[in-house]
Amino acid sequence: MRTRKFFNHPQKTIMQLGKYSFGTGDRFSMQGEAQLRAMLKAAEHGVAICPVWNKSNREHKLIGSNPESTRLAADRAVQNLGWNNPYFVDADHINLSNVDFFMPHCNFFTIDVADYIGQPAEAAQLNAFIEKNKRFAGKLHIPGIGEEFEVSEARLEAIGQKFLTAISHAGIIYRHILHNKVNGPFVTEVSMDEVQDAQSPVEMFFILSMIADEGIPANTIAPKFTGRFNKGVDYVGNLEQFEKEFEQDLQVIDYAVKVFGLPKGLKLSVHSGSDKFSLYPIIGRLIKKYDKGIHIKTAGTTWLEEVIGLALAGGEALEMVKRIYAGAINRFDELTAPYASVIDIKKENLPSPEAVNTWSGQQLADALRHIPGHPAYNPDMRQLLHVAFKLAAQEGAEYSRLLEKHKELVGSQVTENIFDRHIKRIFFI
Ligand SMILES: [Zn+2]
Repeated sequence: MRTRKFFNHPQKTIMQLGKYSFGTGDRFSMQGEAQLRAMLKAAEHGVAICPVWNKSNREHKLIGSNPESTRLAADRAVQNLGWNNPYFVDADHINLSNVDFFMPHCNFFTIDVADYIGQPAEAAQLNAFIEKNKRFAGKLHIPGIGEEFEVSEARLEAIGQKFLTAISHAGIIYRHILHNKVNGPFVTEVSMDEVQDAQSPVEMFFILSMIADEGIPANTIAPKFTGRFNKGVDYVGNLEQFEKEFEQDLQVIDYAVKVFGLPKGLKLSVHSGSDKFSLYPIIGRLIKKYDKGIHIKTAGTTWLEEVIGLALAGGEALEMVKRIYAGAINRFDELTAPYASVIDIKKENLPSPEAVNTWSGQQLADALRHIPGHPAYNPDMRQLLHVAFKLAAQEGAEYSRLLEKHKELVGSQVTENIFDRHIKRIFFI
């Protein structure tokens, strides 16, 4: 068994993310404290969770915000609440064309190489990969997994063809950050979740071999799991299949860390798209069973709580929510197009703006709040508003003013959502 030492600058690249970390999005940079309160509540229950504020380039572009504002909001929340533990600002789904925009302000980089998956590999690189991994050909036994995997040289070649270009691109981006980032260490995540097909555990194993060869000291890896991870609503797919895949991925990572010499704390990152309530207990049970860490990434669930809080506030705040909803119906195609692969809205279930205009704040909140089984809960409305945050951005200062005015009501929704509906379900609090 070989162990490679491939960290050229260990003091610069190794950063403690901790066993459990939770990524939240804060689209308008006003809920940092409310989000952090959820981590403080978890700590009161003995569960240490490292907060990560994630925002993608797409999100910044749609809102007109920048990574500096995310950093300032995170620092402010941490300072105001006296948080003494590590925290991170995640440059979410970055690539070489936009990483520089994030570089000075982030200490967590989610390198997205999904677009390169399936691009043919260079012959020399492919041969080297096959040569190196031939030792696993035949029956691959991964400790802890009952079944053995058939790995022929043809299979190795197919995996190399599919993923080598993507991972070598991740290496280019990682080294770009390493050589250009001047202000301290950072966490590295490699993400491949925004693709159609789930990666199998065998593919995952060889992807980790490629990551080690690139010298990427990955802290987290975000595969595509089986099933649909629609924005802001529950998982749609086969729970048993997910459980099997997730459990095997945990074993694969364990083994890959040993044989490829990857960082010991390497853990799975689940890009949940928020609110995968039916998966949380499965994830929680398995990480407990194997004593593993996890990173859960959510996005947008906090923005929906802002909308819910404003609806409950009534008056001009409720009027604004109704205006945003009417706008979302009018601009349906424009708003949903960038998210087409991660939403599934049944248009016939969307009430008309005229109908919604007659609703009380409580009615609107009940339709949007994600309480599975609640008779008023409307996942179609929820998904539509999830992608409609651009309309709140267009309300400009007025939106921020109302959030500020109803800070406590909105903040309590945000904290309750993250703690009660997410953290409690994952960590069995
Ligand atoms: Zn993702």
